[in-house]
Amino acid sequence: MFGYPIRYSFNESVYMSNKILIIGSGIAGISSSLKLKSYGLESIIIDKGNFIGGRIGTRDIKIKDKSHYFFHGAQFFTAKSDNFQKVVQNGINKKYIKEYGSFSPPRYRGFKSMRNFLINLSENLNIIQNVKVTHLRTYNDKISVLDSKSRIWPTFDAVISTLPAPQNLELMKKFPTLKKTLKTASYDACVALMFFFERSPKNIPQFFDYYKKNSILSWMAAGSNLRFWTAHSKGDFSNISLNKDKELVKNEMFSEIKKIIYRFEENVKINFHSLQIWKYAKVTKVASGPQIDPKFPVVIAGDFMEGPNVESAFISGEKAADLIFKRLH
Ligand SMILES: Cc1cc2nc3c(=O)[nH]c(=O)nc-3n(C[C@H](O)[C@H](O)[C@H](O)COP(=O)(O)OP(=O)(O)OC[C@H]3O[C@@H](n4cnc5c(N)ncnc54)[C@H](O)[C@@H]3O)c2cc1C
Repeated sequence: MFGYPIRYSFNESVYMSNKILIIGSGIAGISSSLKLKSYGLESIIIDKGNFIGGRIGTRDIKIKDKSHYFFHGAQFFTAKSDNFQKVVQNGINKKYIKEYGSFSPPRYRGFKSMRNFLINLSENLNIIQNVKVTHLRTYNDKISVLDSKSRIWPTFDAVISTLPAPQNLELMKKFPTLKKTLKTASYDACVALMFFFERSPKNIPQFFDYYKKNSILSWMAAGSNLRFWTAHSKGDFSNISLNKDKELVKNEMFSEIKKIIYRFEENVKINFHSLQIWKYAKVTKVASGPQIDPKFPVVIAGDFMEGPNVESAFISGEKAADLIFKRLH
């Protein structure tokens, strides 16, 4: 979480000199900003979290001054589309992306963690973390924005908002067309349980795919090495876990994890690290309806517009940038 660069701390002059605002520094926000840059348009991204990437989460753990990583959000990404394939190829050439396993179509991961991928991808972008956008309103033909840190409402020529659909809805009170689109999307939650082995296991594969098996788990995989793991739960279990006691959820998942692991290797000690509950993890229904407001330069983007994965969110961000570019020119 700490020790990584955040390019700008909150500074009103940087914030207000950029005339296109992107809300959210997940992959959709980053791809919007990159695409706008390719058109010669500067933008600023602001995000409420500590670090870029949103649901492409990485958590680090230091042992004897050495960092190890849990991949507790997206575990891997595909690159079937031309533009994302270029991004991935560039990352492979520069050694911050690696192919993951041997799947068809191929899957990729940031190396050594998803963070390296995100930092490299966004190195020339203007990003401010730890600022939450709370309100949007129209001002002549532009958009004024209120956030958790400033008391004024700076005005932007255009806004791209990439929050998960239910959170985006709260910001779109003045934009009924976009509200209507957002209401059509739905999500499953996901519980991520991070755990680690006392020593590196010898007889355990790098991942367990449990989507089609009778288990509360859907997927379980090693992070930056075989000692540090994340398990993800299936949608049904995750959705009801939102209202359950966290200790209970932890115990249910941890005992399932141990059951699976001990089938492969009996004499290993497994330690619990942490639990993260992602309320809006996986898009179960993609939104239908316009992505841009008919009158004002406001666009919504994210996985909920294209599909339940990193690559779709990337594509949606690029589409949003195209819509803004056309609207402003
Ligand atoms: C547990 C889990 C496992 C997954 N596994 C995979 C996988 O293996 N492969 C795959 O391809 N995909 C996977 N996904 C899905 C993938 O992570 C998402 O589809 C993708 O990252 C979504 O990107 P996004 O930019 O649309 O949204 P997000 O990543 O959610 O970005 C939205 C950003 O908006 C910020 N934000 C929210 N509200 C505000 C506000 N008011 N003001 C400012 N900022 C705000 C958030 O902090 C966040 O950074 C997984 C997701 C989860 C949660």
